[in-house]
Amino acid sequence: MPEFAPYALDTRGERMDALEQYFREAARELREPGAALDADPDAVHRFLHLPAVRLQQHMLTPARFARHDDVLPSFVPAEASCAEWILAAEWLAYGDPGMTLASPGPALSTVVLRALADEAQQDWFFGRTSDWPTWAFFALTEPEKGSAATELTARLDADPSGDGWVLNGEKMYIGNGAHARVGVVFCRRAPGPWGIEAVMVDTGDPGFHAETLPLIGLRGARISRLRFDGMRIPPERVLGRHRPRSRRGLQGALQAMLWFRPSVAAFALGVGRAACDYVLAQRPALAGAGRAEVDTMIDRLNRLRRLLRDVAAEIDAGSPNTFRVSGVKMRAARLAEDATLLAARLLGPASLVEHPWLDKVYRDVRAFEFMEGTGNIHRRGVFQGLLRDDYFTSRDRDVRPGRVAEGVV
Ligand SMILES: Cc1cc2nc3c(=O)[nH]c(=O)nc-3n(C[C@H](O)[C@H](O)[C@H](O)COP(=O)(O)OP(=O)(O)OC[C@H]3O[C@@H](n4cnc5c(N)ncnc54)[C@H](O)[C@@H]3O)c2cc1C
Repeated sequence: MPEFAPYALDTRGERMDALEQYFREAARELREPGAALDADPDAVHRFLHLPAVRLQQHMLTPARFARHDDVLPSFVPAEASCAEWILAAEWLAYGDPGMTLASPGPALSTVVLRALADEAQQDWFFGRTSDWPTWAFFALTEPEKGSAATELTARLDADPSGDGWVLNGEKMYIGNGAHARVGVVFCRRAPGPWGIEAVMVDTGDPGFHAETLPLIGLRGARISRLRFDGMRIPPERVLGRHRPRSRRGLQGALQAMLWFRPSVAAFALGVGRAACDYVLAQRPALAGAGRAEVDTMIDRLNRLRRLLRDVAAEIDAGSPNTFRVSGVKMRAARLAEDATLLAARLLGPASLVEHPWLDKVYRDVRAFEFMEGTGNIHRRGVFQGLLRDDYFTSRDRDVRPGRVAEGVV
């Protein structure tokens, strides 16, 4: 297994430094399990004792449901901020992105719950995901409606008995869907964007069907196809039912995507950095044009990292710039692919055969293009931001135009 490269801490205060150091050490343990998971995605069950596998559940669970045991140190926060979570996500992916996605916990659904649920709904959901190990899913994508998510067709109809709702429809590419105990499903109660609702489901209830889909890369994500056949949804499982229509279902999906797009960017960044470090570890004497290409890639990844931290800080401050979030996610997915392509080229024509780890991450990074929206959709978002003159910050405008174009777009 490739070793971790030397590492310099950023200066962002002692607490973030301590967290980063801890994440880095915890992620070291993920390389071997990552290879095992690539061969058998269900092998995650063999590694549930690892602290790195606990991080997702602990950091994404609201503080009042967090269980403090001796697996994680007390300075690792529950209900983490976006800035704290992307730091963990980057290092966990540096260790292994598949292991991170295979880990139990509330995952994306946590943001929907935190945004829309009342106290009883939070008790219902997080009471279950706090049981170790429990997986949860977030089901938005449909077979024919990937990028056009607001056109979703899964139906939520009034139960003929007069009490509650009935769910019918299909979802596609849902992370951990076939292994989850609970999940959030986006469905349509009425036409138009405000007709979208988010409901909590228990996968043990009648009418739930799931199958895991085969994957070439990032196999730990265990993406699944789900079918809901007349599944009964009690009224209290409709999230945000106490809110106006314009501030529930769709709003929860948008919040989750806003929060998790930086996570996917952090995953991509972590793998991109790991690929560069791998080349340097394998070719310590690399010089000339090849070395310059690796150095340039590391520079680009470092610039992306700064931008990623800025967008996460904006999210935590309650003033996110959705266009910049799109820009960061789109650019990170591209850079991660470029970094693995570069590594494969510099390590020679048989590199993917001779370096099984590189072969694995070379396949893994292709998924980042699709997770949390494809490049074309985000490109459109960036373009809209530029048209509205709402993309660059005043700080960006202060630097040379050439640098702005390269570092921020
Ligand atoms: C590893 C992984 C995990 C995932 N986990 C989840 C999950 O947990 N929950 C969930 O709900 N979903 C999940 N997804 C699904 C993901 O959100 C979708 O793959 C994504 O939204 C794209 O949808 P699609 O695959 O149907 O592609 P499509 O929307 O069919 O796009 C195919 C191509 O057409 C392009 N395209 C589509 N529309 C336009 C347009 N209007 N203009 C220009 N180009 C366009 C796209 O850019 C892309 O290149 C996951 C996906 C992956 C790969």
